[in-house]
Amino acid sequence: MNMVLLGPPGAGKGTQAKVLAKELNIPHISTGDMLRDTVSKGTPLGKKAKEYMVKGELVPDGLVIEIVKETLKGAGMERGFILDGFPRTLEQAKMLHETFSKLSKKLDLVLYFKTSLDTSVTRLSGRRVCKNCGGNFHIKNIPPKEEGKCDHCGGGLYHRKDDEEATVKRRWSVYAKKTEPLISYYKDEGNLREVSGDLDVDELNKILIALFHKENLV
Ligand code: AMP
Repeated sequence: MNMVLLGPPGAGKGTQAKVLAKELNIPHISTGDMLRDTVSKGTPLGKKAKEYMVKGELVPDGLVIEIVKETLKGAGMERGFILDGFPRTLEQAKMLHETFSKLSKKLDLVLYFKTSLDTSVTRLSGRRVCKNCGGNFHIKNIPPKEEGKCDHCGGGLYHRKDDEEATVKRRWSVYAKKTEPLISYYKDEGNLREVSGDLDVDELNKILIALFHKENLV
């Protein structure tokens, strides 16, 4: 099953994508994670991406599109994949459509995580991410067993710079302007399903698994 997770910052797309990827045994492709990885390597592309990411702006389409194209062509995508955080602009959605046609793939489902600003701010201000494996925690909702340390690999946890409140507000306004138009784009395509991003991970997961069965996607 090929699916896209769409929604504002702090909608829980990444957390849910990790759970679904394990359950369905398909790869989780997060453009945010791939870009952070590029930034940490300090390559020219990484340096350029960082300028946008720290401000809560979108990285230019051209840079992201190339990364996604290469990934989708790679091995391990045969049984499907979960795209998290891509597409984020109409241009990216059109490119995805073209790439799918070339690779004889189709987009089965777009899950729109409708989420309140309150939920988003609470999640992002408390979110802690592992420097090593990218594992996600929350100081109140998903606390690590040992403070500041990842449960999975023991790596150090950090608060993303772009999760600070002022940047979260900027990310929301960028989302409203550039990404929200994708909701009607995919509604018109007929493959958008709206779910609540305000629910906790397990509750939403049960709803999603039921939806996949109902639509004969698993
Ligand atoms: P995320 O981890 O999905 O919240 O993404 C973190 C940041 O990476 C975003 O605020 C953007 O700066 C950048 N980013 C991630 N995905 C994309 C994308 N599809 N298009 C442009 N920028 C992106």
